[in-house]
Amino acid sequence: MNAIGVDIGGTKIAAAVVSPEGKVLNEVRYPTQAIPPNRLIETIAQAIREVKEGFEVDGACLAVPGFVLTTENKVIFAPNLHEIENIHLDEELGRRTGLRVTVENDANAAAWGEFRFGAGQAVDHQVFITLGTGIGGGVITHGVLLRGAQGAGGELGHVTLDPTGPPCSCGNHGCLEALASGTAIGRRAREVANEMPRSALGRLAIEKQVLGEDVTRLAHEGDKAALRVLEETGRWLGIGLAGFVNIFNPEVVAVGGGASRAGAFILEPARKEVDIRARSPSRDLVKIRKATLGPESGVLGAAALARSEDGEYVLGPSKQVA
Ligand SMILES: [Zn+2]
Repeated sequence: MNAIGVDIGGTKIAAAVVSPEGKVLNEVRYPTQAIPPNRLIETIAQAIREVKEGFEVDGACLAVPGFVLTTENKVIFAPNLHEIENIHLDEELGRRTGLRVTVENDANAAAWGEFRFGAGQAVDHQVFITLGTGIGGGVITHGVLLRGAQGAGGELGHVTLDPTGPPCSCGNHGCLEALASGTAIGRRAREVANEMPRSALGRLAIEKQVLGEDVTRLAHEGDKAALRVLEETGRWLGIGLAGFVNIFNPEVVAVGGGASRAGAFILEPARKEVDIRARSPSRDLVKIRKATLGPESGVLGAAALARSEDGEYVLGPSKQVA
């Protein structure tokens, strides 16, 4: 049977009907900024009803950026989405849509999407990391999504790598997120631009605020300053990944998010650090790959985590082995 995945982002709400094979059969998108804050729940319900029209569907799951108590289908904290905090979303949305609705953290849902239908579909042990404005993560071990006691587990972006490093959005300093996210690339690019003012990066920094995507473009053009920024970023990423490889012994590390478009510029130095720092046999087994689903990982993963009334995954059993 089909399921609905809903990805609630800073810029849009995307709802999709997904088949058991991971095919998107129908999709609707609403820009978040057009939704008055007190209409958020109704808009989510409307997106579910609209996308469902004409399809057989047996459950839905929301992927929400924030702290989610999966056991209670509650969002405890979601920046800019306060209307959906601290209420039983399964009841509110169930009543309005006639479906069983569950809730997951967005990075965990994306991790599950890659595991079921993307970079990790052939394995049972996968670490997923998404390099965007921040860094999200998700861990699947023995085919089971690691949630921890409250559903807050898998926050791979907030391991401290450098206690005296740049400030992080979480209030700490030197987290992986503060050193290897798209935001961190932009910050480091502005520093390197000052040190190398004659580089293409240095010249661009005089004209505009340099962003992560500018650095990727200049690296493709061969600019040494841009290449240096991405290599440093990749090394920090690799230092973080080496720890995850030692802890979880994954078969695949899938790297997604906007900054993963830098591809080998980031992944090669990351692989080198993992080779140096992670232990054998974990480091010999692991494949560090670019995620394959792109921005669809959220709706696909959420749909694959939707459950029917009897508590089973609507899209069929996972590859679960434990
Ligand atoms: Zn942090």
